[in-house]
Amino acid sequence: MIDELYQEIILDHYRHPRGRGTLEEPKIHQEGANPLCGDEVIIELRIADGRIGDIRFSGRGCSISQASASMLVEAVQGKTLPEVHALIQKVYAMIRGESHPDPEEMGDLSALAGVRRFPVRVKCATLPWHTLEEALKTATASPSENLSDLSDSSESLK
Ligand code: ZN
Repeated sequence: MIDELYQEIILDHYRHPRGRGTLEEPKIHQEGANPLCGDEVIIELRIADGRIGDIRFSGRGCSISQASASMLVEAVQGKTLPEVHALIQKVYAMIRGESHPDPEEMGDLSALAGVRRFPVRVKCATLPWHTLEEALKTATASPSENLSDLSDSSESLK
């Protein structure tokens, strides 16, 4: 029953992706790939006042990789960077089976927990999140972005 629900959520995001598209410049552009499955995810975003402003994804691949990207876009929009880093770690722990999702807190993302039973699909589910991590590293490395408020909290999450 739970599995059917999870599957429904994943298929819904795959068929009706949220935030699919690209952004005008200026933007952070990051590409990620999972050669094991042939998945590609491109994330484009802008950071404004220490928060994720506009964010879009594009790419192609299996339903899990694309649904995960759609869920990511929906989940991180408007969040502060420390909140996003915390969420990324929660998603990894959930997908690896190290923690059980609280559906109230995680919303549709809870559906990704079902992937833990299919180890070969774990990389599909985490691909968009790794790509977002890389994108945020690029942002942190850029002197034009003021990310000073990130330093304290990101350390404590490790
Ligand atoms: Zn895949």
